[in-house]
Amino acid sequence: MSYATREDIERKLKSGWEPEYFNAPNPVVEKELIQTPYKEKLNPNIKIVVAGGGGFIGGAMVRYLKDRGFKNIVAADIKPVYEWYQTTEGVANLCLDLRDHKNAMALVQGAVEVYNFAADMGGMGFIETHRVDCLINSSKINDNMVEASWKAGASRYFFSSSACAYNTTLQQKHDVPGLKERDAYPADAERGYGWEKLIAEQKCQEMFIEKGMETHIARFHNVYGPHGTWDGGREKAPAALARKVIAVQEGDEDFVLIWGDGKQRRSFMYIDDCTEGVFRLMHNLNTTATPLNIGSEEMISVNELVDIIEDIIGIKVERKYDTSKPKGVVGRNSDNTIVRKFLDWEPRISFAEGMKPTCEWIKEQYRNRKAGKRTVS
Ligand code: NAD
Repeated sequence: MSYATREDIERKLKSGWEPEYFNAPNPVVEKELIQTPYKEKLNPNIKIVVAGGGGFIGGAMVRYLKDRGFKNIVAADIKPVYEWYQTTEGVANLCLDLRDHKNAMALVQGAVEVYNFAADMGGMGFIETHRVDCLINSSKINDNMVEASWKAGASRYFFSSSACAYNTTLQQKHDVPGLKERDAYPADAERGYGWEKLIAEQKCQEMFIEKGMETHIARFHNVYGPHGTWDGGREKAPAALARKVIAVQEGDEDFVLIWGDGKQRRSFMYIDDCTEGVFRLMHNLNTTATPLNIGSEEMISVNELVDIIEDIIGIKVERKYDTSKPKGVVGRNSDNTIVRKFLDWEPRISFAEGMKPTCEWIKEQYRNRKAGKRTVS
């Protein structure tokens, strides 16, 4: 086989390789240890690095880890801290360009766990028009982060891959079956962004097979929620459409412009399910170096997505369609068979439920911006 497979990983897991046990500088008594969803208990003082901590998922992960009781979290992002989507009290926030190897090395010194969410990315409007940025910038970040983490002796490394790594020829119909992990190969990923993710996955897989660093890889399917990009060109469909419906309600627009014919279908995962899935994946030894779907199986069309937003906001809008705009693949869904088996878990927040706090937050942002106040997008 010309790429790393589950058989290669299982061979390594059974080869006498042992996971590293954590050594935090301050040993604690048993009752202070943090229980993972599995057998392991963690010292709350271990250094945890979150790269891309100023972004949507990274910012939410920092909050999740802090809420779980971890005390030594370091977050880093290329954006100045005042532009971060959210910051969490008691966390060290650093402004660093992780395309620079020296910055990555300095960041991960002494880290036990490294979560890498940093990437140059956005919704379809961004990734179809910034292929070079997606390929080159994110590849530099991923090379640096995985190599520096290994050199620094980190025990676990998490990489955020994407459903865009899947073979696009399997996503040409509205009613496609959910994508199974094996459907990434033979490879025909999304141009630019998707190929970069697929190659970065392989770096994480070989890093385990050849060098023995425990890596964990999630293929996220469209994540949404408060504290994310909602305007400016990098936003994804749920936030973009919520903003457009709100603009009509606020009397600033007459109609909602939908990219494509509105029939394209996707699944969307609420941010709280995402952070829970990442934490589980990271602490499950059986998922080492194995790319796993972290996504919802609830598939809806863009038109249905607008119906739900209309219900939440309480307005019916006129819809216009622009089929010349980037719209991505025709249909994409997650198949969670393997995730259920390995993690004993799957996302549980419905789109209608998760969009309520999301719309509320975007409306607040929208009104703040109109009033001349500072916002995140
Ligand atoms: P985001 O854009 O909100 O966060 C990424 C962060 O990385 C940003 O804050 C950005 O400033 C930072 N960054 C970019 N270049 C950097 C550099 N050179 N050095 C340091 N930081 C840098 O995106 P997100 O939605 O939070 O996504 C996080 C990860 O999950 C990404 O790898 C993304 O590809 C992946 N992913 C997200 C989704 C989704 O729906 N949000 C879906 C699939 C995969």
